[in-house]
Amino acid sequence: MSDLDFVSGSKPIGLERGEGAFLYTADGTEYLDAGASYACTPLGHSHPAVVEAVQEQVGDLTFVDSSYPVAARENAYASLVAAAPDGLESAWFCNSGTEANEAALKFARSATGESKIVAATRSFHGRTMGSLAATWKDKYKKPYEPLAGDVEFVPYGDGQELADAVDDETAAVILEPIQGEGGINVPSTGYLETARELTADAGAALVLDEVQTGMGRTGEMWACQHAGVTPDVLTTAKGLGNGLPVGAVAVQDWIADGAASHNATFSGGPVVAAAVHATVSTLLEEAWPAHAATLGDFLVTELEAALGDVVREVRGRGLLVGIELKRGANRVARDLAMNQQVLALPAGRTVLRLLPPLVIDEADAEHLVDALTATIAPETDSDA
Ligand code: PMP
Repeated sequence: MSDLDFVSGSKPIGLERGEGAFLYTADGTEYLDAGASYACTPLGHSHPAVVEAVQEQVGDLTFVDSSYPVAARENAYASLVAAAPDGLESAWFCNSGTEANEAALKFARSATGESKIVAATRSFHGRTMGSLAATWKDKYKKPYEPLAGDVEFVPYGDGQELADAVDDETAAVILEPIQGEGGINVPSTGYLETARELTADAGAALVLDEVQTGMGRTGEMWACQHAGVTPDVLTTAKGLGNGLPVGAVAVQDWIADGAASHNATFSGGPVVAAAVHATVSTLLEEAWPAHAATLGDFLVTELEAALGDVVREVRGRGLLVGIELKRGANRVARDLAMNQQVLALPAGRTVLRLLPPLVIDEADAEHLVDALTATIAPETDSDA
C-alpha cells in the first residue's frame, strides 16, 4: 500500500472558517493555526485585501488565456518581479510548487544544454515526475520509477561534497535554502554562497526552492537574501496567493533567454493573479517579513526557555521553526490538536514544525509556547 491518503478529512476536526491566525469549527471552537495551512496563508486567513481582490476579480473576469493581457496578471507579474531578489528579472506563473520546480529544471536544462541535476539528501521538491526525481525519500519515489533520471544526491549542507558533484555536465543544483519536509534543516553559514560559486564556475543553474521558505516566512522576503545569494532560478508557491493555488518561477535573463517552449493553461489566471498582487503588495507594504523575524526570535527564545531540557533542539529562522523531539512528532501534533487546540505539523519522525501565519502576535506566540509546554513537558508546566 502507498501512504497516499485518498480520503480527504482524515483529521477529526472539521474546520469551517478562518480569520487571521485562527481557525474555527462549525460550533465555534477556536484553533491556533501553527501549521494547518502549511505556510499557505502568510497574511492570515481571510485577509480582507486578498478576499476583496479575489471577489472583485471573480466577478469581473474569472479566466481568459494568458496570451491576452489582463490587468490583474500584469499587476501580479510586476509585483512578483519587484519583490524577487535583484537580478531575477522575469517570471512564469504556474499552479503549484511541484510545477514550479518541474519548470525550473526544464529551464535549466534548456538554458545550459546539459542534463545532470544535483540535489540534496532530505530534500523535498514535489511529487510530479521531475520534481520527484530530485526529492530524497525513496518511499515517495520507488513505486513510481523510472523517474526523470540523471539526478545525483549529495549530503545537504556539505560544501565539499557539492564541489565534488558539480561539473561541466551539470544543468542545475537544486536546493531548499532551509529544508522544510526534511526536518527544518538550517545549513551552516557559507553553504549557499558555496553553491552559488560552484554553479557559476560550472555554467550550471542554481535553483533555490523557496516554496516553503519564501514569502517572508524566514524574516526576509526570500530566505536566500539572508546569505546575499541570488539564484539563477527561484521557485515559489504555497503562500504566494495567500491560500489560492498558484506558484511561480523567477529567473535571471540567461535562463529566460535559453528557455525553450513551456506553458500551462492556467498560468497566472486572473483570479489567482489578483490574489498574488494583493498578497505580495500587502506583505511588503505592511512589512510582515520583519515581523516574522521579530516574532520568530521571540518564539524560539521562549521555546528554548520552556523546553530546553526536554527537547533535543529548537531551530529554524523567523516563523519557520522546528522542534527536534525525544519522541514521535505525530503523537505530539495529535495531542496538541486534541488537548490544546493548536494545529502544528510534523516534519519527519521526530521534528514538530511550526508554520503559523506571519500575522501572529506576541500573545499568540506565548499561547503556542504554553500549549507546547503542557503537551511536551506537562510536569514543567504544572511547576510553573
Ligand atoms: N518544494 C518544497 C520545499 C515544499 O515544501 C513543497 C511542499 N511541501 C513543494 C516543493 C511542493 O509543493 P506543492 O505541494 O505545491 O506541489
